[in-house]
Amino acid sequence: MKTVLVTGGAGYIGSHTACKLIENGHQVVILDNLSTGFKSVVPKDAVFIEGDVGDSDTVTQLIETHGIEDIVHFAAHLLVPESVAQPNRYYKNNVVASQNLINAALAANIKHFIFSSTCAVYGMVKTFPVDENVSMQPISPYGRTKCVTEWSLQDTNTAIQSGYIESDFKYVALRYFNVAGARPDGKLGQVTENTTHLIKVCAEAVLGVRDQVTIFGTDYATADGTCIRDYIHVDDLAQAHLDALDYLQKGGSSDVFNCGYGHGYSVREIIDVMKKVSGVDFKVIEGQRRDGDPPAIAADNSKIKTKLQWSPAHNDIELICRTALDWETKIRN
Ligand code: UDP
Repeated sequence: MKTVLVTGGAGYIGSHTACKLIENGHQVVILDNLSTGFKSVVPKDAVFIEGDVGDSDTVTQLIETHGIEDIVHFAAHLLVPESVAQPNRYYKNNVVASQNLINAALAANIKHFIFSSTCAVYGMVKTFPVDENVSMQPISPYGRTKCVTEWSLQDTNTAIQSGYIESDFKYVALRYFNVAGARPDGKLGQVTENTTHLIKVCAEAVLGVRDQVTIFGTDYATADGTCIRDYIHVDDLAQAHLDALDYLQKGGSSDVFNCGYGHGYSVREIIDVMKKVSGVDFKVIEGQRRDGDPPAIAADNSKIKTKLQWSPAHNDIELICRTALDWETKIRN
């Protein structure tokens, strides 16, 4: 089996994917600067290197030392509200660092590159669910940073196809919808301080870590007035990365895929599910809209199911909420 470099492997989705790669026989090297990640979630069988993905010397050296052939690139800042307040931090970490990594990958003849993208590249979508052909019109700095890196990968691929760049480099960009939940075996979950993500926020409210949940906007043009999102279980998302690598290794061409289940839940519905699975009637208040939030989005996932044979195993909102809560309970005790 080949050695895979996982950037951001000490983060939420990165650690779940690294774990799954190892369980499927891959060797894994993790590069993470621990700015938001945690050493405690790094799988014990992975080689861990503390450093920045934007540091070309570190990346070039570790590719050579560990015989890296494939890269899965997670390391990024990923909070919409934070990106609105600190755009330049997001451009530096998500755009500049990713570009350095892509350049180092090209120079080192890396063949396969999986990029963590996001449904935030779509912005205010008019179609529900949205497919990959809809043009990217992000409405938040976070979405724009991911869009720029997707364009860079797309332009690199075009230059390779046209013979301007001589390289075997191919990429898959996975556009994540709303990732949540934890491994059902309790081994891994999300460790994030000051979370802003709805399902984790609700789990913290169940446990009394926070006094209440605020609904950000109740006047959207949706059935109950609150935003609709397509929540995908983290383990199904991790599997999508293995499927994407397999696809490229078998000769698949560069492409972009949505990762979601194809249906959405409103903020109020998520709150109700969390109350149901926990049996706790935590306090909920109605607040103002949050900047950068589109009203409703869900993934048309027919492309990933057809081309990557992705077959999700945890498409169950109660399971997603329950595993998130079980994990939260575990790390708070
Ligand atoms: N949300 C909310 N209260 C919270 C956290 C989130 O009403 O405390 C809403 C948020 O405005 C959005 C949805 O829940 O409509 C999902 O937000 P989250 O931050 O989980 O993910 P995002 O869609 O921003 O990636």
